[in-house]
Amino acid sequence: MKYFSTRDKSLNFSFRDIFLRGLAPDGGLFLPSEIKKYQQNEIKDLNSLSYLDLATEIIFNFCKDDITKKELKNLIEDAYKNFKIKEVVNLKKIGNINLLELYHGPTLAFKDIAMQVIGNMYDHLKVADKKKVNIIVATSGDTGSAAISALNGRKNINVFVLHPHNRISNIQRKIMTTIGSDNIFNVAIKGSFDDCQKIVKDMFNHNEFREKINMSGVNSINWARIVCQIVYYFYSYFRLKKKNISFSVPTGNFGDIYAGYVAKKMGLPIDKLIVATNENNILQRVINTGEYKPDTVKPSISPSMDIQVASNFERLLFDVVGQDDKKVNSLMGDLLKKGSFNLNDNEINIIKKDFEAVKINDEKTKLIIKNIDKEHKFIVDPHTATGFGAANKFKGLENVVVLGTAHPFKFNETINHVTSKKLEAPSQLKMHMDKKEKFDIVENKISQIKNYILGKIK
Ligand SMILES: *Cc1c(COP(=O)(O)O)cnc(C)c1O
Repeated sequence: MKYFSTRDKSLNFSFRDIFLRGLAPDGGLFLPSEIKKYQQNEIKDLNSLSYLDLATEIIFNFCKDDITKKELKNLIEDAYKNFKIKEVVNLKKIGNINLLELYHGPTLAFKDIAMQVIGNMYDHLKVADKKKVNIIVATSGDTGSAAISALNGRKNINVFVLHPHNRISNIQRKIMTTIGSDNIFNVAIKGSFDDCQKIVKDMFNHNEFREKINMSGVNSINWARIVCQIVYYFYSYFRLKKKNISFSVPTGNFGDIYAGYVAKKMGLPIDKLIVATNENNILQRVINTGEYKPDTVKPSISPSMDIQVASNFERLLFDVVGQDDKKVNSLMGDLLKKGSFNLNDNEINIIKKDFEAVKINDEKTKLIIKNIDKEHKFIVDPHTATGFGAANKFKGLENVVVLGTAHPFKFNETINHVTSKKLEAPSQLKMHMDKKEKFDIVENKISQIKNYILGKIK
């Protein structure tokens, strides 16, 4: 199996290569040449596996040329030993909706699930053996802390985390800026998440700089993250024990929900994948009208979804245009030159077969949090709340699972404001409220950020 780019099918990379690089050299995203399709009886065989064994089976399909199954199993077991629950995730019923809690990892967001495995993969693939690796991450609030927790103190690895200054929650920022050791650098960029993500992509595309610092990335464009997220789609299906299943997914960069799409390609009987967005609804617009046009980012109470350039959408686009790399290239060229591209009716219909999309604004999100608390004595965070809101729009759809993407404590100020409740910090959280925060504020200019990085790694 090889990996190629959404913009050039002739490229030929190994799992280890794409793991280290993150972004393809032509600016496209990596995809595997084959996706294993399970037959019905094979799916039955996976049915009773523990989360850890299921993760080993699923992830192995994508990295078998570089890691043995036994090694992978060890690495996964080690990755999840700090989770609050042994089965990593937890499916529960809230009224007539199913909630999959994905936030019992060390930094209380679903991003821990992929990131803890990735941290171990860095060591296992020995990518930093001979030369120090500098990982540059853009975060809308949760990727950063998950990356820091997974990569803290690892030998020969530095992590630079770029977050949008003053646009993440206080707890999100505190976790990032108080748990890191000497190999972690937090940078607050005077801009939006889209600005942070663009800087990281531009640095990847600048060959000389990338090679000079031996740059690597763990943003959701990294295929290894997608692969780890496929697992819990299968797991929920097996625990729900119904013929088919749908998912409602709080969405920003389209990584998490795209993993659900891959699960469907692998043979999981998924009916619909519902994209829940906040006011930053580029995905809701493209899925319903065909126009992909990034707007300016509007800050919301679900900051991890304050994204207008949903990078992973390019992977779906590749399928939608019949796996035509030239067509993807030309659409992405339009986006760069004209600021948008358009899909035709046929292409929209292809997307609509698998996806629905709903926008839930801040007012509705607050109402949802309030109502779930009132009716079910249960607190959901603002991101998860958009998932509930979107799921409720589809009364005819059975067996919907909402992905709970963050623990409410991470957004305790909003929760307190909406419900008057004061939440306690979960025990696995290693955050030091009273410790001095460590971060630098830098202008939204790639040259300044490059200099910052070069200054630190001298
Ligand atoms: C990252 C994140 C999302 C969005 O996930 P994508 O993979 O970027 O679509 C949603 N909710 C929370 C809490 C997140 O941290």
